[in-house]
Amino acid sequence: MGAPPQLTPEERARALAKAKLSRQVRAALKLRIKSMEISIAQVFDIATSDEAIAKMRVLELIESIPGMGKVRAKAVMERLNISPTRRVQGLGRHQMDLLIEEFVAPSGKEKGKLVVLSGPGGVGKSTVAKALKISSPFFVSVSATTRSPRFNEVEGIDYHFYSHDEFDGAISRGEFLEWAEFAGNRYGTPRRAVEDALRDGQNVLLEIEITGAKQVKEKMNEALLVFLEPPTWEELVSRLEGRGTDSAERRAARLALAQEEMAAASFFDKVVVNTEVEKVVATLIEFASAHRG
Ligand code: 5GP
Repeated sequence: MGAPPQLTPEERARALAKAKLSRQVRAALKLRIKSMEISIAQVFDIATSDEAIAKMRVLELIESIPGMGKVRAKAVMERLNISPTRRVQGLGRHQMDLLIEEFVAPSGKEKGKLVVLSGPGGVGKSTVAKALKISSPFFVSVSATTRSPRFNEVEGIDYHFYSHDEFDGAISRGEFLEWAEFAGNRYGTPRRAVEDALRDGQNVLLEIEITGAKQVKEKMNEALLVFLEPPTWEELVSRLEGRGTDSAERRAARLALAQEEMAAASFFDKVVVNTEVEKVVATLIEFASAHRG
């Protein structure tokens, strides 16, 4: 290591002021953790936009959790295989998950059930998801996509519309529970919102295509995978053909894909035939209450 840079008195004063401010920000955060006002998951969120928190030592963070103290904090870090000198910004996604899981506040609430609704494009998944959102307290996840909005879609309600760069950034920061490419566009489930809702005891619905559903099952084995099937193949073809929002080329690509997708049903925990939206909604609510815990 070379000699430290020579600072002018002004630079030195600025550096000291910055360090002082960082200490104050960290102290304030630790107080909020101590009083259980915020969770570890929220601290990780804050760290994405606050340098002082991003550079905080994980050990220091854990020590401020009520009932922890220095010795226990060190032991937890060792057990989770996290270096005692690790800073928040240096944590991998998996390590963050381990820490969040370790310090889940005992809210007394039973964890919500994660239901993944999948099936061939055009089968009516999004209609079911919308109906479920209206008629039950399910938290319906809003995906991110690189696809352009259709004329009737609203940012933040139908999708979060991302540029390719934004989507790449979200992947590299581990912000997706799963993501997949579908008919030339990318789609991903924002992880944090889903995890928060489950922890809060809400049942959660993901309405996603099949490869994404398989990824979710690999990560969260307790997820219930539901395959939505059209009453007949002809019905699916006519639905895809009739989609005025897509170009002819896009409709043809989706039809070819749907044929492949229909073969995936056996991988799923449940298969439901989409005869009537209300019936599917009622079945999903029933599944969630039967499989909670
Ligand atoms: P669309 O472009 O018609 O809105 O959606 C195309 C496909 O992407 C549908 O099958 C839909 O279920 C799926 N999809 C929507 N959001 C997600 C997501 O977050 N992840 C994955 N894997 N698929 C998604």
